[in-house]
Amino acid sequence: MSFFNSIGRSMSRAPRNPKRSPTPTSATFSPVDYPPNSAPSSPVVSTPQKALYLCSPFVEASLVKGKFKTIVLLPKYVDIMEWVAVNMFDFYTNLNEFYGVISECCTQSSCPTMSAGPVLNYTWINQDRKSVQLPAPTYIDYVMTWAQNLIDDDSVFPTKSGQDFPQSFPSTIKHLYRQLLRVFAHIYHSHYHQILHLRSEPHFNSLFAHFLAFGREYELLEMKDLKGSPSAPVGVGALWEKWREMGILEGQ
Ligand SMILES: [Zn+2]
Repeated sequence: MSFFNSIGRSMSRAPRNPKRSPTPTSATFSPVDYPPNSAPSSPVVSTPQKALYLCSPFVEASLVKGKFKTIVLLPKYVDIMEWVAVNMFDFYTNLNEFYGVISECCTQSSCPTMSAGPVLNYTWINQDRKSVQLPAPTYIDYVMTWAQNLIDDDSVFPTKSGQDFPQSFPSTIKHLYRQLLRVFAHIYHSHYHQILHLRSEPHFNSLFAHFLAFGREYELLEMKDLKGSPSAPVGVGALWEKWREMGILEGQ
């Protein structure tokens, strides 16, 4: 049990501030509406063609050999909040750079929806609390702008010594993690061939595996976000299973 998560749990029971800027909170699938027994016995995405990122040698491509768990553990004498903050900053920065490189291929016409699986499109909650479909580049722009503003906000990510992290930090980080996961999921689903074209798959896989291992260690990663529902699976849910089988991610 991580200390960070126990804080997150206690915080999640606290009343939420309804005036928070509009941020996406739901997907078109409903992860709680299906009975537990209806889940498929094997986590195979029902695509006619296997996604390239699940195929050898791409699925094994990595900059790092070994288990990612070892690099996500809290170093001695480091404050857990600081550790989580700096890692989330790095994930955001690296993901933003990857997306920047492929963004010219992610357009309103190539990606009219925020797709992350054969039948899965994430929706955005707008200011009227309505769930709306957005083109992927618009959705991702909203996520990245929101994330950048969070990181720049000294009251959320304090930078001065002696300044405490806000009590809402764990729940904010969970929200940020979920949105970054969606950006990863879209890139894998819709733009992996461009990652391959750039020969960046070892780097991108390593970044994502690190992100997953970190999310697992600090309980930021929700399985329903990673896998979706049986009727609308998230493509990278199968990648997670592959990597688990390969032993590069420890834990469940
Ligand atoms: Zn796209």
